[in-house]
Amino acid sequence: MRLDYLTIFPDYLAPLRLSLPGKAIDSGLLELHVHDLRAWTHDRHHTTDDTPYGGGAGMVMKPEPFGEAFEALGVGAGDTVVFTTPSGQPFDQRVAEDLATRERLVFACGRYEGIDQRVIDHARTIAEVREISLGDYVLNGGEVAALAITEAVVRLLPGFMGNAASLVEESHAEGGLLEYPVYTKPRTWQDREVPDVLLSGDHGRIARWRHEQAVRRTAERRPDLLHPSALDDGTPIVRAVRGDAEELLTLQRACWVQEAIANEMLDIPALHETLDEVRADLDRWETYVVRRAGRLVGSVRGRLDGDVWEIGRLAVAPDLQGQGLGRVLLGHVEAVAPSGAASYRLVTGARNERNLGLYKKAGYRLRRDLAAPSGAVTLTKRL
Ligand code: SAM
Repeated sequence: MRLDYLTIFPDYLAPLRLSLPGKAIDSGLLELHVHDLRAWTHDRHHTTDDTPYGGGAGMVMKPEPFGEAFEALGVGAGDTVVFTTPSGQPFDQRVAEDLATRERLVFACGRYEGIDQRVIDHARTIAEVREISLGDYVLNGGEVAALAITEAVVRLLPGFMGNAASLVEESHAEGGLLEYPVYTKPRTWQDREVPDVLLSGDHGRIARWRHEQAVRRTAERRPDLLHPSALDDGTPIVRAVRGDAEELLTLQRACWVQEAIANEMLDIPALHETLDEVRADLDRWETYVVRRAGRLVGSVRGRLDGDVWEIGRLAVAPDLQGQGLGRVLLGHVEAVAPSGAASYRLVTGARNERNLGLYKKAGYRLRRDLAAPSGAVTLTKRL
């Protein structure tokens, strides 16, 4: 694989020659070229940035040095130009696996407010373009992102790692689980013991223990990986963010007005909540939402109360009810219950036959012995 980097800070990429990548370069598995973008400037100050058209803060990277660099480096069909940008596709192991199949990656590292858009548009006409983000935060420049992407990609190249098996078992591998905890010598350290099972020599037991640990860790830390739930058409159910609050409030009002009319209950708390309360609840509950054609059409939330996973606000846009969306959302919130949960609990309108039917079908039992707001009933189900 050949890797090229266009940057105004070539020294940032010096670590690429350390450790394993260094060895891979020596062995001919990797060809690596770091280019100082200023080599393609023609003024005395080697200027690579200028003020933004339309005004605003900061500077923008000029298009000409990138254009000349692409030409001088012969970037063309079959090559992939990677623009590192916070507005790109989030980088993950699947993207790394995909990039590892390419013959040549050319990283264009941004600085300042980013790169003139025409560079990206132009690159698209001569090569494959990928705009990739390291995560939802802003770095000073694209070099650190290029380094991280490189490291994740090149370790997947056949022959790069001494032990290819370690690729199969680690976090984010094909199985989608986080890795189990690992231990080495000494057997006792600071009064802490290595788990007995790992000393048993029983490979079957060890494999089972590791799998259990991986599942538990994933459920606790990244339930979204364990249950990447989606509707039948592949629409994902995702964790709600603060920016969803307005739409959540709208959905909630639409659903609970309907519920209130059907049950002659006008004191349903969800009907009277303010936007600020909905926002605050997003911090207190794990809320999940689903969108259709960009519109937020379903929600549900859960939170742990002792060993009870309390489920609430199961809502489906009135025009999409009766299509099974509620059942899928309920299944999702049940699936993401943390490992400490022993049962599920929810509350619904005592006269809401449709909801009661849904919950009973899903295995919930009516619990008249448990408190519920007036006009409502509590239902529970054991995990
Ligand atoms: N104004 C830009 C914006 O809001 O999207 C941010 C520019 S940032 C200060 C400068 C450069 O750092 C970007 O052009 C990009 O190359 C790189 N960068 C910053 N955050 C990044 C991230 N999360 N992932 C990948 N690259 C990033």
